[in-house]
Amino acid sequence: MAQAVDGPAVFDAGEVRRRLGADAAREAVRAAMIALSDGRARQLIRSFIGLGSGRTFAIMPAALGERAHFGAKLVSVFADGRGRKSHEGLVALFDGETGQVVCVADAGEVTAIRTPAASAAATEALARPDADSLAVLGLGRQALGHIDAVARVRPLKTVRVWGREAGRAQAFAEAAARETGLAVQALADAERAVAEAAIVCTVTGAADPILKGAWLAPGTHVNLVGSSGPGQAEADAAVVTRGRYIVDHREHVLVHGGEFLRAKAAGLADDTIIAGEIGEVFAGTKPGRTSPDQITVYKSLGHAVQDLAVTAWIYEQSR
Ligand code: NDP
Repeated sequence: MAQAVDGPAVFDAGEVRRRLGADAAREAVRAAMIALSDGRARQLIRSFIGLGSGRTFAIMPAALGERAHFGAKLVSVFADGRGRKSHEGLVALFDGETGQVVCVADAGEVTAIRTPAASAAATEALARPDADSLAVLGLGRQALGHIDAVARVRPLKTVRVWGREAGRAQAFAEAAARETGLAVQALADAERAVAEAAIVCTVTGAADPILKGAWLAPGTHVNLVGSSGPGQAEADAAVVTRGRYIVDHREHVLVHGGEFLRAKAAGLADDTIIAGEIGEVFAGTKPGRTSPDQITVYKSLGHAVQDLAVTAWIYEQSR
């Protein structure tokens, strides 16, 4: 941690990685999502400033509660034109009592850790207790994070990964197996990867569906993560309509949930398809899975309360 005299602490990417474990992140995110759903935590709808094709500046402000930490994530999301994106920026954390900025943290690293943590918390709540097989669609930074994070909440026996280029998928599977100690297999066919999986995570930069609802076996739990803006939909309408559709933040999904918006525009869903928020499920005020054969879908857009909650955890632990 670097600290200017009387100034905010600074947690660069290495410091965030060193301090923020996946289990601590999951618990911090879980608590933040409960507070968001019960109204203690508040956040504004994310603002995006377009900077030309594939280049966005996002401003994400939130308060974790009255007199609790507040602040914002400021992040650039720049696409490289070949399906990869970088998330660069900072999380600024303020003290809820004094109003002072207490720390800034690397937003790319915070995002890389809190996003799988949120999916893992949702998986813990929504997947069948005996779910032991995972399919991950996508081979980027989030893909590896999701394998590790999901393995912490379910005893995975098989992990299958799919990417749009078979050679890359194979190399990723080998690297992920080395990194996690799990048996990771690359499949050339997304449908096959998904068909026998009890848990499915989509973590691609795809703008159009790479996952079809028709492929899902009864009882599957799906985390839709990669499409975090209104213009992207990684899954088709059947994924939204076939299962119990739980979202991270209703207000945001109504305006930024790509899959939901496309299903609604096609007349296949309306706002009542949203069965609840994950924070309500965590708190027990809304049911999660209601039968073993039910398909459950968690829509992750990613939120400032999550960024602030893990940054506050890092800051408090450092003191
Ligand atoms: P990366 O850029 O590291 O990886 C992107 C992956 O998506 C790559 O494997 C890439 O394939 C794949 N991909 C891109 N386009 C397609 C396509 N058309 N079909 C199939 N695969 C495709 O990104 P991250 O892992 O950091 O993030 C993944 C996604 O998640 C991004 O869209 C990002 O914006 C989103 N995200 C969502 C968050 C949330 O909170 N919900 C938070 C952070 C990120 P290849 O390997 O061939 O290059």
